[in-house]
Amino acid sequence: MANELEGGCLCGNVRFRTSQAPIRTLACHCTFCQRMTGTSYFAESTFPKDEVTFNSGRMNCYEHISEGSKKKVFVHFCINCGTTVTLTFERWPDMRAISRGCFDDPNAVEVTSHIWTQSAQSGTALPEGVECFAGARMSLAGQAEPSTRHVSPVMARQNRDA
Ligand SMILES: [Zn+2]
Ligand SMILES: [Zn+2]
Repeated sequence: MANELEGGCLCGNVRFRTSQAPIRTLACHCTFCQRMTGTSYFAESTFPKDEVTFNSGRMNCYEHISEGSKKKVFVHFCINCGTTVTLTFERWPDMRAISRGCFDDPNAVEVTSHIWTQSAQSGTALPEGVECFAGARMSLAGQAEPSTRHVSPVMARQNRDA
């Protein structure tokens, strides 16, 4: 896996560079991420905040109050093209998430967990071998939540739709 990753928004005004590989890359199926992206789920790579540097391209910030934690999530998007490039979090002030689709090579990172699968949209498959969490990875108290690794791909909603 590449240690230094570059990327940017759709129009190219916002560019970033990381100085290390992500801590993790996950796919989030929560309803916030579905609406924020306007699509099925959000794939994001998490970095220590200081390990990602940006050019001078301007971003705006939308503050969303998380339903679960009641803490703010900051959605940073290019003022020109609207691409959501990065998220920051009141709950984890030292961390930053980068939208996987904004990397110049999105395949330089690998999704190793899927979270909030309980709200995944119909038609969404969960691959084998990745950590799948029904909700968050951690409880609000900071305890690790149980996860499942499927031995073959499964439809995220198959239990509910049966
Ligand atoms: Zn842009
Ligand atoms: Zn989410």
